[in-house]
Amino acid sequence: MSATTLSELREQVRGEVVAPDDVDYEDARRVHNGMIDRRPAVVVRVVNAGDVMATVSYARQGGLDLAIRGGGHSGPGFGTCDGGVVIDFSRMRSVRVDPSAQTARADGGATWGDFNAATHAFGLATTGGIISTTGIAGLTLGGGIGYLSRGYGLSLDNLVSADVVTADGQVLVASEDQNADLFWAIRGGGGNFGVCTSFEYQLHPVEDVYWGPMFYEIAEAENVLRFYRDFIKNAPEEMGAFPAFQIAPPLPFIPEDRHGDMFVAIVACWSGPPEEGEKQFRPFHEVAEVKAELLGRVPYPAINAAFDGLFPKGIRQYWKGNFVKELSDGAIAAHVEHGPKAPTVSSTMHLYPIDGACHRVAPDATAFGHRDANFAMVVVSAWENPSDDDANIQWVRDYSAAMAPYSEAGGYINFMDSDDTNRVQANYGENFARLVETKRKYDPGNLFNVNQNILP
Ligand SMILES: Cc1cc2nc3c(=O)[nH]c(=O)nc-3n(C[C@H](O)[C@H](O)[C@H](O)COP(=O)(O)OP(=O)(O)OC[C@H]3O[C@@H](n4cnc5c(N)ncnc54)[C@H](O)[C@@H]3O)c2cc1C
Repeated sequence: MSATTLSELREQVRGEVVAPDDVDYEDARRVHNGMIDRRPAVVVRVVNAGDVMATVSYARQGGLDLAIRGGGHSGPGFGTCDGGVVIDFSRMRSVRVDPSAQTARADGGATWGDFNAATHAFGLATTGGIISTTGIAGLTLGGGIGYLSRGYGLSLDNLVSADVVTADGQVLVASEDQNADLFWAIRGGGGNFGVCTSFEYQLHPVEDVYWGPMFYEIAEAENVLRFYRDFIKNAPEEMGAFPAFQIAPPLPFIPEDRHGDMFVAIVACWSGPPEEGEKQFRPFHEVAEVKAELLGRVPYPAINAAFDGLFPKGIRQYWKGNFVKELSDGAIAAHVEHGPKAPTVSSTMHLYPIDGACHRVAPDATAFGHRDANFAMVVVSAWENPSDDDANIQWVRDYSAAMAPYSEAGGYINFMDSDDTNRVQANYGENFARLVETKRKYDPGNLFNVNQNILP
C-alpha cells in the first residue's frame, strides 16, 4: 500500500491542514515559547479522533516526525518540529461535566482555563496548573502540580480514563479496567505512548478559595524559607503554598516606589472553608513583615489566571526542574544566593509541595517517578529580547547546578528543557524499566519521539 499523500490527507480530515504555503502557517507553526522557531511540513488542526487517526497514519507511513500539541506550553517546544507533522488540538477544547458522578471529560486541546470554567459552574475542580493557558494534556500526562496537589494529588492521580490513538492508528481506551498497562504508562510517561484525544477526570468540591501572594523584603529570604520548610510539613492538606523569588510587577497592590524591586514571596491557597482563610494565613504574617499582599476569597478559576500576564504567548523561556526531598540548610543557602538574581519580572523559582495526597499513591501505581519527593522545584526564566538569551539561560543553569547537591538526580519531566534529555531515566527512577517495556509494546518504532523520549 502506498503512503497517503498530503492531498489525500486534506480529503480525509475534517479539520484544517496547514502547509508552508498557507496564510495561517506562521501562526500554526508557533508555540508558546518564543525561542522555538521550527518549521513543520504540515500542521493538522484536528477536530475529532478520526482526524487524529488519519494524521498518525500519515506520519507513520511517510516516516515523518510527529509532534503533538495540546496547549503548546512545553518549554522545549515539543508541540512543534522541523520538517515533520504536528497534530494541533487547539480546535478541540470542549469540557463536559457530569455533576452526579463528579467527573469531567475534556478534549485533548482544553486549557486549564477552559477546564476550570466548566467545572466551577458545578462547584467542582481538580488539580491543575497555576496558569490558565497551559494545556490539560501535556500537564496531566507528565504529572500535574498545582495549588490542590497536597489535598487531591497530581492531575494524573485524578485521571479516570483517556482515549488514546496509538502508533498503529487505532483508538484504545486506557483505564484501570481497559489496557491497564497503557493507563499506567500515560500517567507520567508524557506523550510517549500515543495521542490522547480526551481525558476523564475525578472532580472534588472546590468553589471559592482564600488565596494570595505575600511579598517580604529580600533580606528575609533565609528566614522565610526556614519558616516555610517547617510550616508546610505540618499544614493541613487544604493548604497549597509555595515560596518564590519575584521582582515586583507594576501592580496596584504593590507600592509604586517598590515596583521592580526583588522580593521573596509566598503564594498560598487555602481550599478549605474560605471563612477560615484569614486564620490559616496568620503564620505567614508572623514570620516577617509582609510588605505587599493581595489576599482574599476568590473563585478557584481566578487564581489559575492570576499570573497569566507574566507569561504571554511568544515570550522567550528556559526551564529546569529538580525533585527535592528535604529543604536543608545548605539548600536554603543556595536559594538565598541565586534566587535574588532572577533577571526579569517573569523569571522565578517556585518550590511546589508534592506531599499529602501525592504521597498516598504507591510509587509504582503510576509511571510518575519519585513519590518520595516532598517538593518539585522549577527555575524558569522568561524574557522578551533575543539579545538577553545568554544571561537568562545562564541564570537558570547556575541556579539549578547550585541546587543539584540538595536534589534528586531526576526531576519533573514538565519542567525539563531540551538539554535535559539525558535525565529521562533518572526522572522516572524505579519506574523506568517498566516504561521501556510498555513503550516496546505500544510504540516499538518510536513514532512518538518529540518529547522527553523513552527509547523502546
Ligand atoms: C506558563 C507555564 C506555566 C506552567 N505551570 C505549570 C504548573 O502550574 N504545574 C505543572 O505541573 N506544570 C506547569 N507547567 C509545565 C507544563 O506542565 C508543561 O509545559 C506541559 O507540557 C504543558 O502541556 P501543554 O499541553 O500545554 O504542552 P504541549 O507543548 O502542547 O505538549 C507538551 C507535551 O505533551 C505531549 N502532548 C500534548 N498534548 C498531547 C495529547 N493530546 N496526547 C498525547 N500527548 C500530548 C506532547 O507530546 C509534548 O511532549 C507550566 C508551563 C508554562 C509554560
